[in-house]
Amino acid sequence: MSNTMKAIRRGIKAGVNAIQNPQHDHFQAGGKTIVCSHCGNDSFDYIGVGGFSIVGYGIECSKCTHVEYFTSAPSKIG
Ligand SMILES: [Zn+2]
Repeated sequence: MSNTMKAIRRGIKAGVNAIQNPQHDHFQAGGKTIVCSHCGNDSFDYIGVGGFSIVGYGIECSKCTHVEYFTSAPSKIG
């Protein structure tokens, strides 16, 4: 394989990794930082609300994938 092809493949792999490992965010609700009720981790990813029977906001723990669910949007604190 040529060096050019290797470089392109490396570039694609880096892009894929960026999609699979997005920057995790910290959130607050009711004036308190949200921590995972299962593992205690404090960084989450916003997820869609598909499958929920009422309108709400889900954030998925970046460590154990437990979903914390709120009916009003938690505020992102970085
Ligand atoms: Zn967790």
